[in-house]
Amino acid sequence: MNLDHAVVIGASMSGLLTARVLSDYFRQVTLLDRDSLPTDAAHRQGVPQGRHLHVLQAKGEQILSQFFPGLEIELLPAGATRLELGSDLLWYQYGGYKVRYHSGITALCMSRPLLEVSVRHHVLALQNLTCLERCAVQGLVANEDQVWLNSAEWVTAPLSLTRPAVGLLKVKV
Ligand SMILES: Cc1cc2nc3c(=O)[nH]c(=O)nc-3n(C[C@H](O)[C@H](O)[C@H](O)COP(=O)(O)OP(=O)(O)OC[C@H]3O[C@@H](n4cnc5c(N)ncnc54)[C@H](O)[C@@H]3O)c2cc1C
Repeated sequence: MNLDHAVVIGASMSGLLTARVLSDYFRQVTLLDRDSLPTDAAHRQGVPQGRHLHVLQAKGEQILSQFFPGLEIELLPAGATRLELGSDLLWYQYGGYKVRYHSGITALCMSRPLLEVSVRHHVLALQNLTCLERCAVQGLVANEDQVWLNSAEWVTAPLSLTRPAVGLLKVKV
C-alpha cells in the first residue's frame, strides 16, 4: 500500500479523528469540508444536530485524550461540565423518574461545536495535515492509481493536489 497521501472527506468528528489517525501513517493528509469551519465554538450548517446538547462519554473521552493530550483541561474552562451519570442526572422515561445512584461513571457535557472546535484546533496543528474549507465533494472517480474528487467549489489547494479542470481535484494516491 502506498502511504503517501490520504484524503479525508468531511471535517466533522469522524473526519477529524480519522485524519488524526492517518497522520501517523501517511506522509500527507488532506481534510476537506464543504463548510467554512468556524474558529470558535459556533454552529455550522454541515452539522445540523450541533445545536442539541452533547455528552462525551467515558470511552470517547479516553480515546480523545490519547490522541489530543490536554483536551479535557481545555474543555472545562471553555464551558464543559463533568457529570456523575448516576447521581447528577434526573432521567425521566416512560412516565417516571429513574432512581438516582452513584455510578462511578462520569461524562463531559458540552455543546457539539465546543467539542468539535477544540478537537479541530489540535488536528489543524498537525504538521503533515492540510485542511480545505468550502470544498464540496460531489463524487469520486478512480482508476488503478489515481482518485479524482469531483468538486464544484474549490478555493485553495496544497501543491500536491493538482487542478486539471474547473471543479476537479485530482489526487495522486
Ligand atoms: C439530537 C442528537 C443528539 C446527539 N447527541 C450525541 C451525544 O450526546 N454524544 C455523541 O457522541 N453523539 C451524539 N449525537 C451524534 C453525533 O452528533 C454524530 O454521531 C456525529 O456528529 C457524527 O459525526 P460525523 O463526523 O460522522 O458526521 P457529521 O457530524 O454529520 O459530519 C459530516 C461532515 O461532512 C461534511 N460533508 C458532508 N457532505 C460533504 C461533501 N459532499 N463534501 C465535503 N464535505 C461534506 C459536513 O459539512 C460535515 O462537516 C447526537 C445526534 C443527534 C441528532
